[in-house]
Amino acid sequence: MQFYIMTLFPEMVMQGLDTSIIGRAMSKGLLSIEAINIRDYAFNKHNSVDDYPYGGGAGMLMQAEPVYQTYKAVEEKIAARRRSDCCNENVQEDSRKNDCEDAVRSARKTRVIYLSPQGKTFNQGMAEEFAKEEELVFLCGHYEGIDERVLEEIVTDYVSIGDYVLTGGELPAMIMIDAISRLVPGVLHNDVSAEFESFQDNLLEYPQYSRPEVWHEKRVPEVLMSGHHANIEKWRREQSVIRTAKMRPDLLEKAELTKAEKELADKIIEELE
Ligand code: SAM
Repeated sequence: MQFYIMTLFPEMVMQGLDTSIIGRAMSKGLLSIEAINIRDYAFNKHNSVDDYPYGGGAGMLMQAEPVYQTYKAVEEKIAARRRSDCCNENVQEDSRKNDCEDAVRSARKTRVIYLSPQGKTFNQGMAEEFAKEEELVFLCGHYEGIDERVLEEIVTDYVSIGDYVLTGGELPAMIMIDAISRLVPGVLHNDVSAEFESFQDNLLEYPQYSRPEVWHEKRVPEVLMSGHHANIEKWRREQSVIRTAKMRPDLLEKAELTKAEKELADKIIEELE
């Protein structure tokens, strides 16, 4: 999967992402992440990309043209990559070259995500949906945001990471890329660990324990030591329901629970009220 990040701070996002699991996935070629500096597309001699907002008001706005030119450059990069994936360089026949060029041009539009506090709040379901794409483009705003006209032309998705205002879209882009990347096959060593996690089936994950068996006089629940897989699964499911009822009862509205699980959840919620 390919990520392109349009930003004024390319080092910030690359340093943040080029470590640990995501860094390893990049070295293995499972992911590629490229940050493109919007300032490289400034069109004045001072290299500035911001200006005062019409109508007055505090702060500066990122101008439309540098953002648009950055986007055009990213579009070219995507087309070049598709071309090289589709047409082997050794292909000599014109007809095959033409077919390939048609495929590159007619391929569906890449999604361009503008990180914005005004967008739809990011969640695991959205991460799963975005993980199906071959490539994604992120646009990070700064200052008071970006000239509306370029957003109208290039953005397909407006995404927020929560109801608060940050100084820039870089951290939100990194958060989204982290959450999406770990769903790309092969990025986590164990594909199962991405499957049974919080928010799957609208439940939170059950509690987990590792060695030692006793720590601060707290013993690991007996069932987990039993080796009886059916009982372990049953215990984990019940713990997920209990934990969700305690911490995120709002999720249970969409969870598919058995009658017994529903009664258990209702009892916990009642006790907490
Ligand atoms: N004036 C804008 C408003 O009130 O909606 C806020 C601009 S904010 C200071 C600068 C940039 O940070 C935004 O363009 C956006 O890219 C990013 N940003 C800030 N908060 C965010 C959030 N909660 N989620 C995603 N991006 C955010």
